[in-house]
Amino acid sequence: MKFQILSFLASLFITVLMILVVMIFNISQEHLRTNTLTFYFAVGFAVLIMLVVNYFVLEYLLGYYKRKQIRHISTRLPDEVMPVDESAMSFSQLGEIVSELSQKNAIEIDTMKDMETYRKEYIGNISHELKTPLFSIQGYVETLLDGGVENLAIRDKYLERIDKSVERLLDIVKDLDMLNQFETGEISLHISRFDINALVREIMDMLEMDAERSGAKLQLQTTHQMLFVNADVQKIAQVLINLISNAIHYSNRDHAQITVKTSVLRRKVLVEVIDNGMGIKAEVLPRIFERFYRVETSRSRREGGSGLGLSIVKHILEAHNETIIVNSVYLEGTTFSFMLEKHASQAGNLAKTF
Ligand code: ADP
Repeated sequence: MKFQILSFLASLFITVLMILVVMIFNISQEHLRTNTLTFYFAVGFAVLIMLVVNYFVLEYLLGYYKRKQIRHISTRLPDEVMPVDESAMSFSQLGEIVSELSQKNAIEIDTMKDMETYRKEYIGNISHELKTPLFSIQGYVETLLDGGVENLAIRDKYLERIDKSVERLLDIVKDLDMLNQFETGEISLHISRFDINALVREIMDMLEMDAERSGAKLQLQTTHQMLFVNADVQKIAQVLINLISNAIHYSNRDHAQITVKTSVLRRKVLVEVIDNGMGIKAEVLPRIFERFYRVETSRSRREGGSGLGLSIVKHILEAHNETIIVNSVYLEGTTFSFMLEKHASQAGNLAKTF
């Protein structure tokens, strides 16, 4: 529509200009000057014809220019954003497509920048985590090479430390590998029916030494003797190990008490790992499941922690279509909870508190 108005105004302008030329010519040529009605009528008629002709000529030229420009711009745009019939497109439609495309590109560029920052941070974190055990291995090996190997007591002590550092390296690499497999969807679950209470007891036995060293007490509180769930037993064991060992390491008090509670909630079994440890400040709570994230205070940093434990927990539970929930009061304690699918038949169960 704007084009028609433009053509009309331009043709009006050209016509007025032509009339003025004719009139000036008429006035200046005295021998030709005429004031008859027929003359004015003829001029009026000519004006009308000129207006119409000018209008159509300009309309055609502007339309041609417009189509050429649209074609010129549209050949530079990706095919998928262009409608099939681009000849009927207006400049405003083309503008909309271009602005949509540039918005999409801006989002893509932002995402790529975020990914790049994440990649840099990730590589930085990995090398930081690997550096500590590698440097200590290097230190012990150098001492042994410099003659320490002759002294049997030093040799055995340093070999043991090297062994621990190698174990630590392997743990980090295994954790990273597991996270990677989760993210690329390579890990498949092996779902089976098992008693979650038996698994909790098994893990508690395994971590008892650690708990004793920290002066922490472990206990299981349950509503049923046995509680059967459908899940991947190995992966859930990993979840429990990570949560209970965190509870032990971040207990930080004399009478540390760690309780694992299991109970039935309709078709689910609720598992809670409760501690009365140092707790986590509310502002960092949303970040603790990020890879390599550690609450950076001298009190909370633990030897052997890599900041991967909770990311693994989150991934394992997400693979089970479940979520991990954390509630924490700083300096009072933390509760991590998650659900698992209850097995339909709970044969041999007693509905009483244990
Ligand atoms: P890390 O290897 O450092 O333990 P995690 O991913 O397991 O890594 O935990 C991330 C951070 O969350 C830890 O550095 C710690 O500060 C905090 N955290 C985890 N569990 C607890 C807990 N039970 N009590 C207090 N803080 C915890």
